Amino acid sequence: MNNKDLNFDQEHVWHPYTSAINPLPCYPVEKADGVNIHLSSGETLVDGVSSWWTAIHGYNHPRLNQAVKSQVDNFSHVMFGGLTHQPAVELCRSLIDITPMGLDRVFLADSGSVSVEVAMKMALQFWACQGNSHKHKFITPRNGYHGDTFAAMSVCDPINGMHSLFSDALSKQIFAPAPQTRFDKHWNEDDIKPLEQLISAHHNELAALIIEPIVQNAGGMRIYHPEYLKRCRQLCDDYNILLICDEIATGFGRTGKLFACEHADISPDIMCIGKALTGGYMTLAATLCTEDVAQGVCQGEPGVFMHGPTFMGNALACAVANASLSLLQQGKWQTQVASIEVQLKAELTPCIELAAVADVRVLGAIGVVETKTSVDVAKLQKEFVKRGVWIRPFGKLIYIMPPYIITPEQLRQLTQSIYSVLNEL
Ligand SMILES: *Cc1c(COP(=O)(O)O)cnc(C)c1O
Repeated sequence: MNNKDLNFDQEHVWHPYTSAINPLPCYPVEKADGVNIHLSSGETLVDGVSSWWTAIHGYNHPRLNQAVKSQVDNFSHVMFGGLTHQPAVELCRSLIDITPMGLDRVFLADSGSVSVEVAMKMALQFWACQGNSHKHKFITPRNGYHGDTFAAMSVCDPINGMHSLFSDALSKQIFAPAPQTRFDKHWNEDDIKPLEQLISAHHNELAALIIEPIVQNAGGMRIYHPEYLKRCRQLCDDYNILLICDEIATGFGRTGKLFACEHADISPDIMCIGKALTGGYMTLAATLCTEDVAQGVCQGEPGVFMHGPTFMGNALACAVANASLSLLQQGKWQTQVASIEVQLKAELTPCIELAAVADVRVLGAIGVVETKTSVDVAKLQKEFVKRGVWIRPFGKLIYIMPPYIITPEQLRQLTQSIYSVLNEL
């Protein structure tokens, strides 16, 4: 990529969460393979972010490439209204097999945020079809992140999600304090009380509780106690509200279990998946629900679920998702994620001694170092690139979730870069 293109990018192309008038620098990529991103400048970076949780098997994977190539010669997409195909059926069958018990119906969506919209709409339609249209609100813990579309935004953390900016346009939901007990600490019964009180006060107007299981991701990278999630399931049953688990970031092995719900041994009524679903190749997500929810949604008028994206069930995306799931089903991810966890704990924990650092947290193939004050993203980014690694901090969070295929040496390069960059702050 030449300088002219780079200038055009700066002047005309929006990037995620970036100013159009004063954009942060972007690094042009020529190629990526395995755990490496090759820049136009000739530098090679070890990827610590898996392109936002997606590229779990690494880039340019021969099996995933082949899946796309075979499918593209058959057909790339046909409308899903009135038509169906093998790649979609195979994918939905596998998803029902591997997700928590009871999730037997699959709605294919085109991005994580859309799958959250679908989940929330399902919950609303479920209650409305049974004459309970007063149950139209959602309850969720603070520090959550569920996507950037409007319904999803309404259940994101009100401060991180800048609700004040959109306050007149956003539905008002009910926020509980974020879970406080850490994943590996002794469970504190007080942790569930605020949520319990809010649910007991508002259950008549609540359609569902929506939560990211075990790890709150973009809303703070917080890792909480499985008992909290267990109690969420219990409260939803007791008060007759639906439980929506947003596994978009945590799904497909990232936390050490195939789905984070398994840490608490629960099944939600509705579950969203996305991100790693296609191994980082294409955008695809899904909303799964129980038979009960599907029956409830389709009873009475209008008798159908009111949603149907143009690119629903895209065959190319389904084909590559099938290839990614078959790689996962070989089971290597379990030892890979377990070893990454051990190494992250050993190599990131020493960061806690640094003056700039407030906290270190690790679960599965997720490592988080929280600083005491917000970091200068552009400056840190440059320091990381200088050290040959791709890590993208936000706010006070330096976090990594590398591809599962990363070698111990490559992972050490990531953890040592974090240590040395923070040591120089
Ligand atoms: C990324 C993310 C989303 C949104 O997914 P998009 O594909 O970016 O729309 C929703 N929920 C969680 C937990 C996420 O991490």
